[in-house]
Amino acid sequence: MGRTKPGTAPPRTGLPEELALRLRTDHGVDTTALDLALAASSPVSFRTNPLKPSPACGTPVPWCGVGHVLPDRPAFTFDPFLHAGAYYVQEASSMLLEEAFRVCGLTDRTVLALDLCAAPGGKSTHLRSLLTPASLLVANEVDGQRRSVLQENLWKWGHGNVVVTAGNNNHFHCLPGTFDVVVLDAPCSGEGMFRKDPHALTQWSPGLVQQCARVQRDLVDVAWRSLRPGGVLFYSTCTWEECENEDHVRHLLEQGAESILPTAAPLGVVTSGAPGLGWRCYPHLIQGEGFYLSALRKPGPWTPHDASIPARRSSSPWSEHLVDPNGSHLTEHKTILHAVDVRWQRSLDALMAAVPVVSPGIPIAQPKGPVLHPHPALALSLLLRQDAFPELDLDEPSAIRYLKGEALPALDARGTTRVVHRGLGLGWMQGAGRRWNNQWPSAWRIRAAHPSVTRVSWSSIPTGQDNSE
Ligand code: SAM
Repeated sequence: MGRTKPGTAPPRTGLPEELALRLRTDHGVDTTALDLALAASSPVSFRTNPLKPSPACGTPVPWCGVGHVLPDRPAFTFDPFLHAGAYYVQEASSMLLEEAFRVCGLTDRTVLALDLCAAPGGKSTHLRSLLTPASLLVANEVDGQRRSVLQENLWKWGHGNVVVTAGNNNHFHCLPGTFDVVVLDAPCSGEGMFRKDPHALTQWSPGLVQQCARVQRDLVDVAWRSLRPGGVLFYSTCTWEECENEDHVRHLLEQGAESILPTAAPLGVVTSGAPGLGWRCYPHLIQGEGFYLSALRKPGPWTPHDASIPARRSSSPWSEHLVDPNGSHLTEHKTILHAVDVRWQRSLDALMAAVPVVSPGIPIAQPKGPVLHPHPALALSLLLRQDAFPELDLDEPSAIRYLKGEALPALDARGTTRVVHRGLGLGWMQGAGRRWNNQWPSAWRIRAAHPSVTRVSWSSIPTGQDNSE
C-alpha cells in the first residue's frame, strides 16, 4: 500500500465499520464513546529511570510506579534530561508491562530475558528497570534502522547487562529452552494507534489483520520454544483484533501454558472475554492508547542459572574505569570493547553462536586510529566509575549547544572530559586548547529548529541520588 508523505496526516474517518461492529458484538465496547476518544488528542506520558535523577511531575499512571501523564506535550527534544536517559516518553497503556511483571514470580531472581521485537525500546528500557541488576536483557530487532534507535535508547538508559541482537525466527529457533522471560510486543495492525498515529488508519485493512496474525503466530511459536520451563511470555500488541491477540493465547493454552494475569485488572483496564485471556485497553476508559497484554507461564519447575564464574577471564586496562572491574567480562566485537556481567559469559557465547549479536554488552571503548577512546555509551552508563574521567558540568543552554554538536569555547582544554548536566552523564569532549571538540554522536544530535511550544521545565529534580545498580 502506498504511504502518504510523513507529516501530512490524512483526515480522520473514524473506526472502520466492520471493526466497530466486531468490537461492539464480540467485546461489548461502547464504540460511540471510543470514537469520541479517538477524535480527541492523545495524552502525553513518560516513564522515569529509577537509576538516574529524574523529573517527577504530572499525574501518576495507576499501573506504573514511575509513569506520569502530562497536561500538554512539551518540547522534549530540547530537554537534556531526555538525552541523558533520565526518562522515556511512552504512552501509558504500554506501561502495563510493569503490573504484569509483578505477578510473574521472577521479579527477585537473576534471569535471562529476551525482548524479541524490541525497537525503539519502550518495553526494553522498562523491562531493564524491572529486572534485577544482575539479570541479562537481550534486546532483539530485525530492522537495521530501528535497531540503531533501540541501541541509542538502551545506551542512554544507562543500565548494564544489555545485549542487542539482530535475529530472525530461524536464529531464535536454534535456542530452545533458553530464556526465563520473553517479551513479544508483536508487529500488528495498529488499531490502538489510530489516534496517536492517524496514518495507521489509512494502512488498516482486513488483509493486513490476517497478514499480521500469520506473522505473529510464527513469532509466538518461536518465543514459546525459546522459554525455559517455568519461564514467562509477555505477549502484547497495540490492536484489538481477536485473531492477533486472544487466538494466539488460546493456541498456547492448548500446549499447557498457564495464564497468570489476574482477572482483577487495574481500574479502567478490561479483562478479556473469558478470564485468563489477557487485558485490553481502550482510550475512552483510560488515559492511554489501545493495547492488549497477556502473560503465560511455561509448564515445569524453574531452576536458577549456573552462577559459577567461568575460568576464562578477559582483562583490559579499561576494566579499571568500571564500577566493578572484577565482575565485568569484556568482549572485543568489531573492534569495540563491550562489558557484561562475568556470570553471563557462557550464555553470551551460546547466544553469539546462534544469533547475529550487534553489541555483546555495553560498549565501553572504541578505536580512533591506534588508540582506544571512551565510547559514547560509557558516558551515559552507570557502569562508569564516577572518578574515572574529569567532568565538566554544563548549564542548560551549554548542554543544548553540546547536544547540537557544537564545539564549546575553553581557556585551556586538554584530554578527554565527560560532559554532565546537573549530575547526569551525557557525553565526551576532547580538549583542543581554546575549545572543546564535541564527541556527541552525529546521529544523536538535535537538528530541530528552536521550539515554539513550551520547553520542559522540571521544577523539583532530586539531585545527588545513589546511581549505583
Ligand atoms: N517493543 C517495542 C517498544 O515497546 O518500543 C515496539 C515493537 S513494534 C510493536 C514491533 C517491532 O517488531 C518493530 O520494531 C518491527 O521492526 C519488528 N518486526 C516486524 N516484523 C518482525 C518479524 N517478522 N520478526 C521480528 N520482528 C519483527
